[in-house]
Amino acid sequence: MSTADILFDKLQHVTTAGPGCIYSRERCAELAPFVDAINELKKRRKAIILAHSYVNPEIVYGVADASGDSYQLAKIAKASDAEVIVFVAVRFMGETAKILNPGKTVLIPSEPDGCSLADSITGADVRKLKALHPGVPVLCYINTSAEVKAECDVCVTSSNVYDIVAKIPSRQIIFVPDKLMGKNVQEEMDRRGLDKELILWDGTCYVHEEYDPEMVRTLRDRHPGLQVMAHPECSPGILHLSDFVGSTSQLLKQMEKIDAPAYLMLTECGLSARLQVEMPQKQFVGTCSMCKYMKANNLADILRVLSEPKTRDFVEIPEDLRLKALACIERMFDYAG
Ligand code: SF4
Repeated sequence: MSTADILFDKLQHVTTAGPGCIYSRERCAELAPFVDAINELKKRRKAIILAHSYVNPEIVYGVADASGDSYQLAKIAKASDAEVIVFVAVRFMGETAKILNPGKTVLIPSEPDGCSLADSITGADVRKLKALHPGVPVLCYINTSAEVKAECDVCVTSSNVYDIVAKIPSRQIIFVPDKLMGKNVQEEMDRRGLDKELILWDGTCYVHEEYDPEMVRTLRDRHPGLQVMAHPECSPGILHLSDFVGSTSQLLKQMEKIDAPAYLMLTECGLSARLQVEMPQKQFVGTCSMCKYMKANNLADILRVLSEPKTRDFVEIPEDLRLKALACIERMFDYAG
């Protein structure tokens, strides 16, 4: 089977990842030479390609050695003996991989490589918050730069945030940068009867913030039995209307367990695209919510960073800052058990 046929075979059912994600035979034939060149060069450079679930499906299914959320990918990077890691996502995720893998070359191909959430806060902002609330522990979501992690006490992911906040031995906790996730955590602590007060920062993921509860209600009326699956970066109003809330990896696992007439995925549409490839028998409704940063990754740039990387493609972190950020992540492992 040719590479174009393999791509078409895998991607023909994808419809939810935006207008650029229609995989006709002609489109797959255009993509195939890039896929072949990247896979060849990857072997020669002893590289692995790690792709976030939100990037374009031809990357996930054409050239990636593994795909998942940023935390899963950082762990895979750590376990790998590859000399070069091409991290196809956004910059803060490449930084997390570099914090855990200082001896490896980490390359990021996307440009722009930002994130509305990670870019909402700096290390200086965290220092100001600490000065305003002396002695209050600072938790940061993993969607933050190395500079921010270096200023915080404990890192959390969307999978472990509720349980780690519950375990922190302090009533007041500064939580940055996701305001919506922070509100969801506060509600969960109240529901568990825990006396916690979260001090929040005004950051949001613009993709998850966009969801409108009215749209969820309309789709529920239109599709009896609809299962609504949401990421905790969505607003509390959205989570109240959802059947299941979890990180991208938890959403994927839950989808394997349940059987419903239709599903509404309230997270970046790359995850729906993955589900359409891996579970083509399931029906997905709703419109695409696309992250412009994740979708800035493309095969041409992956080929470029493998063949002729520019200075900006390398993720470098000063060692003193890396060690502080590493301590913040390691405390997460301690709390998560
Ligand atoms: S989906 Fe949201 S949190 Fe993820 S990279 Fe895009 S803007 Fe950032």
